[in-house]
Amino acid sequence: MTHPNVKRRDVPASKVDYDVVVVGAGIGGIYAVHRFTQQGLSTLCLERADGVGGVWLHNAYPGARVDVDTIDYCYHFSPELYREWSWSERSASQPELLRYLNYVTDRFDLRKRMRFNSPLTDAIWDPAAACYRIKYGDGCEATTRFLVLATGNLSEPRPPAFEGLADYEGEWVQSSSWPRLPVTFEGRRIAVIGTGASGVQAVPILAQQAEHLYVLQRTANYSVPAHNGPFDTARHAAAAADLAARRAYLLSTGAGVTVSGVPAKRYADCSPEERQALMEHHWGPQGSGMNGVFADQLTDKSVNDVVSAFVWDKVRATVKDPVLAEKLCATTYSIGTRRVAKDSGYYATFNRENVTLVDIAQDPIVRLTSRGILTRSKEYEVDLIIFALGFEAFTGAWKQINIRNEHNQHPTDSWSRGPRTLLGLMTGGFPNLFLATGPGSPSTLANLFVMNEYHMDWIADCIEHMHREGFTTIEPDEAAMDRWGERVAEAASKLLRLQQNNYMVHVNADGSRVFIPYAGGLGKYIESADEIVRRGYEGFLFDRRSSSDGLSDDDFFAPANFGLT
Ligand code: NAP
Repeated sequence: MTHPNVKRRDVPASKVDYDVVVVGAGIGGIYAVHRFTQQGLSTLCLERADGVGGVWLHNAYPGARVDVDTIDYCYHFSPELYREWSWSERSASQPELLRYLNYVTDRFDLRKRMRFNSPLTDAIWDPAAACYRIKYGDGCEATTRFLVLATGNLSEPRPPAFEGLADYEGEWVQSSSWPRLPVTFEGRRIAVIGTGASGVQAVPILAQQAEHLYVLQRTANYSVPAHNGPFDTARHAAAAADLAARRAYLLSTGAGVTVSGVPAKRYADCSPEERQALMEHHWGPQGSGMNGVFADQLTDKSVNDVVSAFVWDKVRATVKDPVLAEKLCATTYSIGTRRVAKDSGYYATFNRENVTLVDIAQDPIVRLTSRGILTRSKEYEVDLIIFALGFEAFTGAWKQINIRNEHNQHPTDSWSRGPRTLLGLMTGGFPNLFLATGPGSPSTLANLFVMNEYHMDWIADCIEHMHREGFTTIEPDEAAMDRWGERVAEAASKLLRLQQNNYMVHVNADGSRVFIPYAGGLGKYIESADEIVRRGYEGFLFDRRSSSDGLSDDDFFAPANFGLT
């Protein structure tokens, strides 16, 4: 009996060079190569950089580190790996994370399937052959049945588009593509532009070495203490003792990280003393930052105002100059409506004699000059400018690739009113193109190790299913994408952050807003994604190869290409 999702179009399938081409050798790409090759799929991974690591290769700015517990922020697919790698800090630094990702790559012998300095430039869907014809690196060509974009959501740096940049005679770097050569800070006049999570992490370290540090702030940020410390080896051993259970637990949580303490109560259900004690607790080392103090703080502005004011008071208590303290308080928006940063001494850094906050909301940058930065009122002469400006989020990396379907469209061409995906995994009209951790999945709201492992397993199982059933192609159905879009919108509809402009919100010309990630929580997302599979990949359309192909299963899937070097 023909499956209800199957269209029969008598498309002849031809042999291909690879079953799967994975783009990006970061957290997702590394695991994808392992998972797919374990399954016997011939796999090639293309990486435009000269090594593995993705975000943890490029964001090598001083102070860069993960801001959740490393006990969660790592791979969970291999109990041996989990046991044998020993972390040194509660929240690992960028160098340690990069060492880990290199270790995993070598431990599972994945490097031989990776091509470095090899950006994917073109991926053109050939409907007759049911494959993507790809070009990469210096004009290499290949064909692949499936294309998996593991390019990351925050990987394409936002370029410093300041007038006069070419005139500036000092050194400049970007936090998001930090140079490999050492950058010296000692005794130099340094400017940091941008006070997002990256700027907040870099500032305290730079201040210790710079002759003078200028921090150019357009919007004040909320930042809470990171409380970093030594790695908890006893907790790690306990987690390692039953890693499968641990992984299942993380997949059931809201963000793929350990939830500590009891579930938050609504503000109205707490006494005044309890409210204050809860806020102090969450600010402290046993807390979980300030986003989850009260169950209703992300949806009720009056509750949020209390938590926001608590953080401003902490800033005022830390920064000695009251005028400066006010400038550092993020009073223009509610806490948690943009990503809350975690820091090690950020606010206290502004008590140093050698640190100046430049409020570029009040005194905007006019241009760069040969000597530094000219604002409306003053020229700041500096030897080094660090741009910590963030990323072309979600679609930035894809836009670098000429991906085309049979109608010569790019996947984002129909996204002018926000992303259109099913589960954030696929978009309509692009057969066999998987968007790992894409828009419409929890993506940037979840632990990206856990999220990527889940997505790569889902994709691998789906390919296995197609192999078993004799399907050639898969793509989501338009109506299913509409329904998923409604689910994504519903999950974010009550959130205060939907009204706050930032990289997670797409704003249409008519003012309507689309929250890009799925905000209903990782656990709920996974229930939905698993349910779709249980219902026979409901909402996905499959094409079965025709009997006239004359191809056997062995022909359809590429020979496992283990000879790659
Ligand atoms: P970001 O949060 O987008 O912050 C960019 C900063 O640059 C903002 O302060 C922004 O000001 C400023 N900016 C942008 N364009 C500007 C311009 N033309 N002139 C002046 N200022 C400008 O970027 P990010 O700090 O790199 O962080 C991005 C994301 O990466 C985070 O949200 C997080 O998901 C991830 N990240 C995580 C960690 C971690 O785990 N510890 C560390 C770093 C980054 P406005 O606010 O006014 O736009």
